[in-house]
Amino acid sequence: MIVKTRSYPIEIMMLEAIVRRFPPHNPRKDEFKEKLMRKRAGYKGEFTLDYYMSQIDHSNFMILQDLRIPHNGTHFQIDTLLISSTFILIIESKNYAGILEFYPEFNQLIRTLNGVQEAFPDPIIQTKIQASQLKSFLSKNHQFTLPPIKFLVAMSNSQAIIKNPTNNKEVSQKVCRTSSIAFRIKPLEEEYKNPTLSKKEIKKIVKLLLNSHTPFIPDLASMNLPLEDMIQGVQCLQCNKFHMDRIHGSWICKHCGHVSKEAHIPAIKDFFLLYGFQISNKQLRRFLLINSVYTGNRILQALELLTTGSTKDRIYSPPKNFFE
Ligand SMILES: [Zn+2]
Repeated sequence: MIVKTRSYPIEIMMLEAIVRRFPPHNPRKDEFKEKLMRKRAGYKGEFTLDYYMSQIDHSNFMILQDLRIPHNGTHFQIDTLLISSTFILIIESKNYAGILEFYPEFNQLIRTLNGVQEAFPDPIIQTKIQASQLKSFLSKNHQFTLPPIKFLVAMSNSQAIIKNPTNNKEVSQKVCRTSSIAFRIKPLEEEYKNPTLSKKEIKKIVKLLLNSHTPFIPDLASMNLPLEDMIQGVQCLQCNKFHMDRIHGSWICKHCGHVSKEAHIPAIKDFFLLYGFQISNKQLRRFLLINSVYTGNRILQALELLTTGSTKDRIYSPPKNFFE
């Protein structure tokens, strides 16, 4: 049973908004573009893992996707967690392309792509640390005996060539292709047959993890994105050009003539993603390039946002499902 599914990460949405709203000549645009590509590749890998996990018989497991748990002044992140009565399994997903060589004796993974060699942190060590953090977190919060906490590293890029040049046992045991994940879970089910956790205890663990989950939200202030450096206005959903004009309750593109009643919604989402989850009528008008306070109010009220403050200085925030 999948009890927590993965949602599209807010960090990627923020990077998309930054890339969309940075003018083409801005020297910082490439840096964000590159980061966006990296994050998207990682998400794609996790998505692939979710697909293969959905194929296996998971009636005996509680599956939690994408957890970020605060512990001992820091956070640990788990791509996929399986909880059964006999064992707990952490699956870390990596979507690296190219030739991947594991050198556990140096705690590194060497990637060769287009003739360029690059060192990455060893995902086995990374996942091992997650397992010990999870163990310490669960022991701190619950008294009951925990089953063994196992882990796997799933390589999601089907084009990647995986190598284990030192024939390291742990590499061959822990690293697998995402497409063969089922063949790595089955032996664990056969090996660990003694139930340690009752159904009630599993439920307690799931509840604890769900309540503790804290999604990662990048620190916008540290990114330094002055409003005047960004492209403002409403983007045409047809030709992607900025900015559309508001005429008689509709947005009209002066480049392609496209007419839309809802083109301001992605723009308001961009504002929230770039400047935090609050907007005033004045900020809205500045960002959408409209003059009328009345139009601003109409737009904000129609979106059914959460509000605080009196009529005059009302602040609007997105409700929970606004970005879905
Ligand atoms: Zn257009």
